[in-house]
Amino acid sequence: ETAVKQEILEKARRLGVKFVRLQFTDILGVLKNVAIPVEQLDKALDGELMFDGSSIHGFARIEESDMYLRPDPNTFVIFPWRPRDGAVARLICDVYNPDGTPFAGCPRNCLRRMLDRAKSMGYTMHAGPEMEFFLFHVDADGKPLLETHDKAGYFDLSPIDKGENARREMVMALEEMGFEIETSHHEVAPGQHEIDFKHSDALDIADKIVTFKFVVRTLAQRHGLHATFMPKPVFGINGSGMHMNQSLFRGEENAFHDASRPDGLSAEAYYYIGGLLKHARSMAAITNSTVNSYKRLVPGYEAPVYVAWAEGNRSALIRIPQKRGLSTRVELRNPDPACNPYLALTVNLAAGLEGIREKIDPPPRFPINIYHITDADRMERGITSLPASLEEAIKEMSADPVMREALGEHIYTKFIEAKTAEWNEYRIRITPWEIDRYLVNY
Ligand code: GLU
Ligand code: MG
Ligand code: MG
Repeated sequence: ETAVKQEILEKARRLGVKFVRLQFTDILGVLKNVAIPVEQLDKALDGELMFDGSSIHGFARIEESDMYLRPDPNTFVIFPWRPRDGAVARLICDVYNPDGTPFAGCPRNCLRRMLDRAKSMGYTMHAGPEMEFFLFHVDADGKPLLETHDKAGYFDLSPIDKGENARREMVMALEEMGFEIETSHHEVAPGQHEIDFKHSDALDIADKIVTFKFVVRTLAQRHGLHATFMPKPVFGINGSGMHMNQSLFRGEENAFHDASRPDGLSAEAYYYIGGLLKHARSMAAITNSTVNSYKRLVPGYEAPVYVAWAEGNRSALIRIPQKRGLSTRVELRNPDPACNPYLALTVNLAAGLEGIREKIDPPPRFPINIYHITDADRMERGITSLPASLEEAIKEMSADPVMREALGEHIYTKFIEAKTAEWNEYRIRITPWEIDRYLVNY
């Protein structure tokens, strides 16, 4: 404990760190920072730094606003784009109550609790996200436009794409921060990019996702671009997903692999899929947490719509990538990058573990492109759809005790409250589509 602490203090000295940002994530998935001068680092590492939680969404009431940050020493890292003298480092923190108990409204604590449950069943969860995002131009005042660099490229005399340049720097910065980048490429839509990093244990991955979004936004800005993880910024082209590859390990073994079965998938893999499919509709409010998320989940854009699974098919909710052995995994395709990754992994794992505990058999694989199936055919096969709106997703979540239990009373209640308010705010707006359609006709 103190050895780790001394090591960080030493590292901070050696690297000339001047400021440390203590980071944590609120219920809605927004990354928060409390910056301290390096002189306070010692105290911070002892978990003695207090902050006022009442200003943070879904955290605390005024009368119980004192919260403590306990930095996770494994997360100490320097921001490589900042100057090296007077360097800036960050530490990701768990939030604690004044009495020393973990705060129930902290998403990181929530994921830890679910990972402990998995551990008691003999498992560790591995996850690997596929991060998609758009890079947009900004106007003279720095306001983001819906114009993409590659479409507007003819203004540019330079043969090199501005977006590709920005992406290369993002990859370099992420690598310096300890990410192992596996692929980085242009996605299907103009201005759309994807960066994938190596799978790891679920807590590390959730930390990496929040870090990733922050790094990508920051570096885009430095290139005069705006990066967005909004799920569907432009009508008529692909949206951005955050496919979540996941598997359970038992020690060094991948528990989803069984070489003795023809398809190489273990009974546990099947039950895990069964659990994910069973709770897909009630998890959607977490994995697809914005009004806009549901505009991505429509036929025709490689995003899932129906609750089904398949081997290769991109229209299905769950796909099983070809690789076996240690890489055996389930790819859940509905999550989008606007979600809170701690909570998304919590509910995915809760659903999967329930599948294993209750031995939930998934329905048969669905091999054909489901976008083309008729509603009648779908009904006959008992294939349901994902919720069509945030409103429907909230209703589903409100009716599922497994979600309540997984998230805990505090987060469950606050999340539903916040999302209901968000939906109500949206629902009363008059959209340009309505004006086009009705103003003249009626
Ligand atoms: N952008 C697609 C989505 O919304 C996914 C494309 C892909 O399969 O990588 O999920
Ligand atoms: Mg992709
Ligand atoms: Mg994928």
